[in-house]
Amino acid sequence: MIDVIIIGAGPAGLTLGCYLAQEGIPCLIVEREHHPRPHVGESLMPSTVRIMREIGFHALVESAGFPHSGGVVYHPQIGFDIALAYRDFPQEGIDQDYTYHVDRARFDMLLMKHAEELGCDIVQGVSVDEVLFGDDGHAGGIRGSFAGEELFLEGKIIVDAAGRATRIGRQLGLRTDHPVLHQFALHTWCTGVDRGRHKTDDWTHVYFVPEVRGWAWQAPIDDEITSIGLVAARDAYHESNLDVQTFFHESLKGNRKLARATRHALPIDDLKGDVNYSYRLDRVCGDGWLAIGDAARFLDPVFSSGVSVAMHSARYAAERISIALESGDLSRDTFLPYEDTVFTGAAIWDDFTRLFYRLLPGFTHLLETKEHRPAMMRMIQGDVQPDSSKEILDQLRAIVRTVEEADSHPWKDELVDLPL
Ligand SMILES: Cc1cc2nc3c(=O)[nH]c(=O)nc-3n(C[C@H](O)[C@H](O)[C@H](O)COP(=O)(O)OP(=O)(O)OC[C@H]3O[C@@H](n4cnc5c(N)ncnc54)[C@H](O)[C@@H]3O)c2cc1C
Repeated sequence: MIDVIIIGAGPAGLTLGCYLAQEGIPCLIVEREHHPRPHVGESLMPSTVRIMREIGFHALVESAGFPHSGGVVYHPQIGFDIALAYRDFPQEGIDQDYTYHVDRARFDMLLMKHAEELGCDIVQGVSVDEVLFGDDGHAGGIRGSFAGEELFLEGKIIVDAAGRATRIGRQLGLRTDHPVLHQFALHTWCTGVDRGRHKTDDWTHVYFVPEVRGWAWQAPIDDEITSIGLVAARDAYHESNLDVQTFFHESLKGNRKLARATRHALPIDDLKGDVNYSYRLDRVCGDGWLAIGDAARFLDPVFSSGVSVAMHSARYAAERISIALESGDLSRDTFLPYEDTVFTGAAIWDDFTRLFYRLLPGFTHLLETKEHRPAMMRMIQGDVQPDSSKEILDQLRAIVRTVEEADSHPWKDELVDLPL
């Protein structure tokens, strides 16, 4: 019997495979598709560098020539840009002042090869249809298909890393849509985007657009190609009565600087869409199983946290899996500290994201305030510590409350109808 079966060879599943292989724990990763396969999620937070180093993957990423991102630039609709260099906010355990924008087809492929080199068994073209549970409620295997044949495999621990497909979450009815963040995203790759001629050209650019909870990203994929994406409240699209293409292009014009940057842009890809992607699982572990990465939870992409969260959840899961296999106790109790870590981090991201959307000027105000900027940048770089995050969340809540309670306030009209 295989020690660990991992469903899905995205950043979460492959990172877990690397950690387990480093510990000498046998694992099998099964992936429905064949790498290289395209995937959304191209701007990596600096915190991913820490994990890349731990699993010995960093040198490969560095030599692959992915564009470097030295910081983040926020472009409000009116007023000055806010450009924040990672160099000015060094983070513990990260010894470089930039991160990467990655073509996920190449990045995930590289990571898969690295996991294989470390000793993981990986089989592509296996679609898992069901996680099998014994009479005692313990997960103990998978049922799927490979090359048109039904396939059964037994494993001591089953890890769901199937991304937003949430294999176990759907099977056990654990998946709940986010109560308020009903967003949608449209994105494509373009040539001809004018990224400018400044040192910030290849940084992560976030443009705010007039649509409710609307913003757009600009991320370089290589010298020619730029990823452009738009995110907004789902209702903003329904109420516009526009077709998807027109809505996308009209929204980009809503920010003067983005309109200028994209005026000669030519899509080289179909426009892709994702809708209502924010959800959580009520439990992320059970007897003999864990869910990691997007298979455990996904929240709005505004802070580009997805791959970082996926890789960190793999790291925490690896710790508990190692303890479980050594002790022979594969029950939910052994995995519970993993669930606590995931839920604590998820609650912080959830609050931060809601407060961001509730009152955008509150968010940009704290970024511009010398006193709070370092803690804000810790969050934005993916370092989610309950103490420093609490300080920032309290500040944001206080600003929102002040504006809510004031009879008149310059930001009153900026309050977005979104329960906190
Ligand atoms: C609009 C949008 C923009 C985003 N932008 C960013 C960004 O800029 N930066 C960032 O860090 N993140 C971003 N994300 C999030 C990012 O895409 C994900 O968080 C990240 O890919 C999660 O990695 P994962 O390994 O958990 O899942 P995935 O990368 O989705 O990998 C899951 C794998 O499982 C496989 N699989 C699925 N079902 C099965 C099955 N039944 N059997 C076998 N295999 C299966 C899939 O084929 C896939 O390869 C964005 C997300 C969205 C929606």
